[in-house]
Amino acid sequence: MIYSDQSPITFHDPLPEAVDVVVIGAGIAGISTAYFLAQKGQKVLVCEKGRVAGEQSSRNWGWIRQQGRDLDELSIMQESIHLWQNFDQLIGDDLGFSQQGIIYLADDEKTFAADQQWAEDVKGSGLDIRPLTSSQVADLIPGSTKKWHAGTYTPTDARGEPTQSVPAIARLCQSNGVVIRENCAVRTIQKSGGQITAVVTEEGPVQCSAVVCATGAWSSLFLRNLGIDLPQLAVRVTVSRTAPAPNVTNVNAADGELSFRRRQDGGYSVALTDYHEHFITRDSWKYLTKFLKSFSASYQDTKLRFLKDSSAVQPSFKAWHESESPFERQRVLNPDPCVYSMKTIRKRLDERFPALRGIPIAESWAGMIESTPDVVPVLDEVPGNAGLYVATGFSGHGFGIGPGAGRVMADLILGNDVGHKMERFRFNRFSDGSPLILGPAL
Ligand SMILES: Cc1cc2nc3c(=O)[nH]c(=O)nc-3n(C[C@H](O)[C@H](O)[C@H](O)COP(=O)(O)OP(=O)(O)OC[C@H]3O[C@@H](n4cnc5c(N)ncnc54)[C@H](O)[C@@H]3O)c2cc1C
Repeated sequence: MIYSDQSPITFHDPLPEAVDVVVIGAGIAGISTAYFLAQKGQKVLVCEKGRVAGEQSSRNWGWIRQQGRDLDELSIMQESIHLWQNFDQLIGDDLGFSQQGIIYLADDEKTFAADQQWAEDVKGSGLDIRPLTSSQVADLIPGSTKKWHAGTYTPTDARGEPTQSVPAIARLCQSNGVVIRENCAVRTIQKSGGQITAVVTEEGPVQCSAVVCATGAWSSLFLRNLGIDLPQLAVRVTVSRTAPAPNVTNVNAADGELSFRRRQDGGYSVALTDYHEHFITRDSWKYLTKFLKSFSASYQDTKLRFLKDSSAVQPSFKAWHESESPFERQRVLNPDPCVYSMKTIRKRLDERFPALRGIPIAESWAGMIESTPDVVPVLDEVPGNAGLYVATGFSGHGFGIGPGAGRVMADLILGNDVGHKMERFRFNRFSDGSPLILGPAL
């Protein structure tokens, strides 16, 4: 079941007076960062305004994907696969981790050539990437009546069960001393002489020397209130899951219209690959020029929507201090799923997989995917704000890379060599006049 503000509170450790690091947000990025900080001896508090993994981190497709990654993300993602494997050893079934591979399905030679070009570009990475003929694709997706032209297969790619994985890692965090508190929004931070000294939660202040803003779709709003600008916009994506069903394929796969993956419960998680919705808000205008390049690249798949009241998808900005903040007024961002998407998912699923016709859709939900203008995350300390770190903007592919990003953030905070090139992920790349280098689509 997808989380909402009605879901029971399961992480309610007492609020400490002081810690080394406060992580704001208990999605995959925040929880992973907390885990690796604790491993390195830090006293860590995670504050979550709603529920652990209540937002994007439980609503995603569950793909743990190296294929198709931005070239600069790939080495962190490859490390992330190993970290998922380690979590699997420590946690077991609750993680829902399974390495069944991913296929990018091509309906024509042009699409296949583009996927193969990516394979060529990352040749030195050591990633196992295999071109598949139409009949090799059919062997891996035996339950489909659709015949694809070809496929690109990465057998070491994986999947997790989003509603389970992050809470399971959170429990592992707790057993390593991390304090986790749900229903505890961070309203703002306090500084002295340019250095972070505390966070102000809705339940009072907590002293600390570092803060990690792992706040997903709320990052721009949180930072704006501190006078810091981070361009970020969001799209709504709808997902359905079937009831337990005959096994039509074990791999995660997507063509230009549909993505599907087998679930641990024997059903399938299914979504449209060519349909996401952007609700026009004030921020759409504010960041219009910054997002023009990414919008132009995906305009066929991005449907623009006008709402009379857009507060359900993005709260409007009105500055606050240490008083009640927008974060406690919307505990879990839980948008309604899109009716067109649900109907089309059912139709396309039935067209491809005769054995799934008549298998009921057990649940549908939506999530707001937040994106940066170049569709890659920000992993950095905010210039001029010593001790304030940001891990956000994962742009529709943060679930898989989350553990890798968490390990990187932990070492960044401790001043250690992170072992990857981090230039691409710096905070001020949208404001320092450097050219925008667009990553692969959401
Ligand atoms: C439909 C959909 C499909 C996707 N599919 C995939 C996929 O297959 N593979 C993949 O890798 N990625 C996928 N993604 C993207 C992935 O889910 C996200 O990139 C990732 O979960 C982001 O994690 P996060 O921790 O940064 O943010 P989130 O999971 O959104 O967590 C941020 C948390 O911060 C909390 N918060 C915000 N402000 C405050 C505050 N002031 N105080 C306290 N708490 C606060 C929020 O309540 C939230 O729980 C998908 C996303 C969606 C929506």
